[in-house]
Amino acid sequence: MIKFLDLQKINAQYELELKEAANRVIDSGWYLMGKELETFEQNYAEFCGAKYVLGVANGLDALRLIFKAYIELGVMKKGDEVIVPANTYIASVLAISDNGLIPIFVEPNINIYNLDSSKIEVAITSKTKAILTVHLYGQNSIDEQMLAICKKHHLKLVEDSAQSHGATWNGKVMGSIGDAAGHSFYPGKNLGALGDAGAVTTNDETLAKTIEALRNYGSHKKYENIYQGLNSRLDEIQAAFLNVKLKHIQNDILERRRVANYYLEHIKNSAIILPEVLNEEGHVWHLFVIRIKERNALQKYMNDNGIQTLIHYPIPPHKQLAYKQYNKLSFPITEKIHREVLSLPLSSVMTKEEIEMVVKALNNY
Ligand SMILES: *Cc1c(COP(=O)(O)O)cnc(C)c1O
Repeated sequence: MIKFLDLQKINAQYELELKEAANRVIDSGWYLMGKELETFEQNYAEFCGAKYVLGVANGLDALRLIFKAYIELGVMKKGDEVIVPANTYIASVLAISDNGLIPIFVEPNINIYNLDSSKIEVAITSKTKAILTVHLYGQNSIDEQMLAICKKHHLKLVEDSAQSHGATWNGKVMGSIGDAAGHSFYPGKNLGALGDAGAVTTNDETLAKTIEALRNYGSHKKYENIYQGLNSRLDEIQAAFLNVKLKHIQNDILERRRVANYYLEHIKNSAIILPEVLNEEGHVWHLFVIRIKERNALQKYMNDNGIQTLIHYPIPPHKQLAYKQYNKLSFPITEKIHREVLSLPLSSVMTKEEIEMVVKALNNY
């Protein structure tokens, strides 16, 4: 069976370095808010070209804390609106609604799967305070039109960079372009910890200082609390693992591009719609997502041929039971995407043989 993602094989590449990192933390006797986190924040700031990095417990918290900080700073208030792509993973939407803000869903571009900038402006009202753009599947979602809209309407641009570590636009890395960005280091992400972890990147010092307190009970100084904060810290052992994994991310991206380019060149089946790439550097291929009318039949066929595929995602946020108030809304492009997408196996550790088997199965379908 060709696995969708072989995490065991991915982390086995760095086994000695990871064990050394774990031992270092165990022996140090210091497990939270220490040297490993400080080092990772510096390394990741350099990697993203962002001034400030705040390690937090996970990607959802990174996004939640950005909006929470904007509320504390008086930039936003409960009941304000945030524009978000309708086809995103539910975490983007949870980060908005958890803060008492209202998600305003906008359709994506059907070929790119990211926000369609030409559809943003009609969704803006006097309550709109931000756009949460999602670099879905690893591809940059920012364009000139989006930046111009933010400027014209005085909106904050927040990036959901959970899937796009290292993707660039005009030479800038995702997470350094908007006002703030949330990153996830969930084990299956391109830069994955061996447990939960996340980070906020920003160039805004005031926002960074606020989040620094909010992630730690709203406190800069022990037992003095200026905000009603959270406990959302990135622990030392995960930071130590991330320092190891970050050293190899550029190579991982190149390997992913190699697999993706092979798929793009060799998959030839008129029933299958291949993903569109805006430019090579703008895509880090967190997921290779194809579209086909009878998606479930193809998934079964692939499974019968020993190839595991996944669906990202089967149900859009506005159709989830968690958001009953939005269930009646209709987003035809988003709903079509959720009916037709299928993600192929893609990782830096796939063998040439495995990649060829995936292509062969699809071409014979
Ligand atoms: C994974 C993911 C998140 C949430 O990250 P966690 O670390 O799992 O909390 C948010 N947004 C998107 C688009 C994601 O893929």
